[in-house]
Amino acid sequence: MKVLVVGSGGREHALCRALARDPRVDALVCAPGNAGTAELAEPYPLDVADPDSVAVLAERVGADLTVIGPEVPLVAGAADELRARGLAVFGPSAAAARLEGSKAFAKQVMRAAGVPTAAARDHTEIEPALADLDTFGPPYVVKYDGLAAGKGVTVTEDREAAVEAVRASLHGPDDRVVLEEYLDGPEVSLFAVVTEAGAILPLLPAQDHKRVGDGDTGPNTGGMGAYAPLPWASHGLAAEIVSTVIRPTVDEMARRGTPFSGLLYAGLALTTRGPRVIEFNVRFGDPETQAILALLATPLTDVLTGRSQPRFRSGAAITVVMAAHGYPASPRLGDPILGLAAAGSLTGVDVLHAGTRRDIDGRIVSAGGRVLSVTAIGSNLESARGSAYEAISRISLAGAHYRTDIGDPARMRHAADVRRADSA
Ligand code: AMP
Repeated sequence: MKVLVVGSGGREHALCRALARDPRVDALVCAPGNAGTAELAEPYPLDVADPDSVAVLAERVGADLTVIGPEVPLVAGAADELRARGLAVFGPSAAAARLEGSKAFAKQVMRAAGVPTAAARDHTEIEPALADLDTFGPPYVVKYDGLAAGKGVTVTEDREAAVEAVRASLHGPDDRVVLEEYLDGPEVSLFAVVTEAGAILPLLPAQDHKRVGDGDTGPNTGGMGAYAPLPWASHGLAAEIVSTVIRPTVDEMARRGTPFSGLLYAGLALTTRGPRVIEFNVRFGDPETQAILALLATPLTDVLTGRSQPRFRSGAAITVVMAAHGYPASPRLGDPILGLAAAGSLTGVDVLHAGTRRDIDGRIVSAGGRVLSVTAIGSNLESARGSAYEAISRISLAGAHYRTDIGDPARMRHAADVRRADSA
């Protein structure tokens, strides 16, 4: 079959890699793609935010299946446009993608479905929102209601910063801000494939690192690294999250006449009162996907269509993001990247491209804030981690920065301690 992957980041490079290994797949297109996906998949220019352009491209290339990576086309209705033309697509309708497109909507669904989450209230006007700030904080959690590329959330002890975040969220008449209770505990991402028939296939639990700096310091980003599985978590964690979160949410969406299919991503905090949902996403998360798919042993299209339960190799995978100088505030673009072949030649290492392109001289240069997802597998997290950081040491990109504590043993011990205290 021919598969079209929509998007251009590290997640899409990981999807292309997994699809290239799939015996059912004989041709791949990735649009718009990056310098890494172009090695595996034919590139096409594409405005991913325009559902019609996505559907036209799928028809033009004769895609047997379209896998939509980012949230923007899903929220805009790209999957609906494809289905209306009788084309197979992995991804939810616009109505179901509201689980990510509006945090206030996601809260309504969770409330109706009895899914454990942070207590919250939403507002459209500044004064009532400010009057409500101290209902939940400190720490204050202030979220812009709509899509913000992972940057619409402020978590702070500083009331002034919270006030500023409320003001920054409410500019136009359609803007909405969500204020919520702070959730304390290690964070987990669980991805579940939800088929059109309503079957739920959970993947490996993973952990993402959202803040830019070591020790979870500095501003939030799209994600600076991830690892899977979680050596400190209980074996039953995925099943518990499916039964308390994923299944009730999928059932509630069906009851509303807007069934969900595609990838449902639950971001959770494991609190002393049990797992609580922080957010839903309606697509593969970046960079957790890079780690999870590195371990996937089942052909990816079999998992996406629900033909087979996903199986994973033993061991662990890690991905460390190399970000451009100035990311996340103002990433510098156009810097040459050297050492990719030397890094990629290490056993178990796959240097996935995120924000890269080839310049007119054929050199690979940075073209986005998150430039590379350096991914490694190993027999355990320690060995995967060692390989990933060894690979990074072989890559040169002027001004690049990355976290040095992804999958760090001290972090693992801390998470395990918190988990033990929670279940005591
Ligand atoms: P989100 O975009 O909703 O995932 O938020 C980004 C990050 O902000 C999350 O990964 C958490 O680290 C943090 N965060 C969001 N909501 C909460 C909350 N209610 N309590 C604590 N941290 C939160």
